[in-house]
Amino acid sequence: MTAPLTIIGSGMAGIGLLKQLRTLDTERPVTLITADSGDDYSKPLLSTGFAKRLPPERLAARSALEVADQLGAVLRTHTRVDAIDLDARTLCIGEERLAWSELVLATGAAPGTPFAIPEGIAERVFSINDLDDYRSFHAALEALGRSARVAIVGAGLVGCEFANDLVAGGHAVSLVAPERAPLPRLLPEPLGKALGEAFAEAGMRLYLGHGLQRLAESGSDVGLVLDDGSVLEADLVLLATGLRPRIELAQAAGLQAGPAGIQVDRYLQSSAAGAFALGDVACVDGVNAMYVQPLQASAKVLARTLAGTPTPVSYGAWPVLVKTPLLPVVALPPLQAPVRWRVEGEGRDLVALAEDQDERLIGFALTGGCVKRKVELARATPPLLG
Ligand code: FAD
Repeated sequence: MTAPLTIIGSGMAGIGLLKQLRTLDTERPVTLITADSGDDYSKPLLSTGFAKRLPPERLAARSALEVADQLGAVLRTHTRVDAIDLDARTLCIGEERLAWSELVLATGAAPGTPFAIPEGIAERVFSINDLDDYRSFHAALEALGRSARVAIVGAGLVGCEFANDLVAGGHAVSLVAPERAPLPRLLPEPLGKALGEAFAEAGMRLYLGHGLQRLAESGSDVGLVLDDGSVLEADLVLLATGLRPRIELAQAAGLQAGPAGIQVDRYLQSSAAGAFALGDVACVDGVNAMYVQPLQASAKVLARTLAGTPTPVSYGAWPVLVKTPLLPVVALPPLQAPVRWRVEGEGRDLVALAEDQDERLIGFALTGGCVKRKVELARATPPLLG
């Protein structure tokens, strides 16, 4: 019997690839292995569910069983792949050895936990990076049975979106981050400050410019000890301190990989023949974008390649729409540090243009009413991967 095409990971990259493949080839045996529940869900919706008080089951488009059935695949859930043998073309899951014909790594990115979490408060410290995490945090909010005091650590896209969503859901939110303004990797400071003002106006408490030194037990609360010695108390803590590509499996197998992800070419082919990667774990020709549009484009071309027509991927100038309704934000962060940001506009309706040394537009950021300029500016910005 021919070994199946094997995909590790059932996030938007893994399931997205399987969906695309099935439009081209309904016959090929495929095995999908995932460490989580395997439900088909849209990860961006995780940071919009608390305002609408959505229970976790409302976020899953279909169950793992339906995925397997409708997409004609063997799906193994709550199963962690321990190792990859590239020469023998097998996977190790405990003692078990599974043969593959071609392998796709779609193992995503994992939240970093830069702080030791004392055992006594571990049940009240969360990060939300998949539907199972959402289930756990949702259950903790429900168990409190009232509006919660939630401290969010980290003011990047994930931290800001959950902060906005939880405030809208009626919770008392504090946002802690060492930077002076929210979204430091997407926005120049004047635009970040505008978002911070909108957050503060909505009742959020901002502890910006403050590093978190440690987490501590504080009676029935969690204490967040800040670098000025002050202590912030919360019912629950949400860590949003960044995501790192899960490269360990690939690296241990001998594939070329680094902090930016598994290195793949435009065909999503890794340093070993027959082994591919896409999604948050993949660094495609030097770019790891970690957003949905790049992984969708990758899934489309990789399906064609796996179906017998090798097809390279390219990425357009795709801006990121940050889900902060308190102040709409759109950003297309430049790939290299700009020589200058040119900021225009009034109040919280701002446009920031990132320029190189020849005054060429290489990225932009928009807030408030100016987000409507996203299409016009995206057309004038070079593609992420041309
Ligand atoms: P993941 O979804 O992380 O999937 C990885 C899979 O690999 C999981 O199934 C996991 O169980 C499995 N896995 C890992 N290791 C193993 C192993 N050893 N064995 C078996 N299985 C394994 N992007 C946008 O473009 N727009 C947005 O608005 C947006 N909002 C977001 C909001 C939030 C809260 C977050 C966290 C991200 C958001 N993103 C957004 C980013 C986007 O969601 C991700 O880029 C995308 O979902 C990544 O998908 P993935 O399949 O590569 O990884």
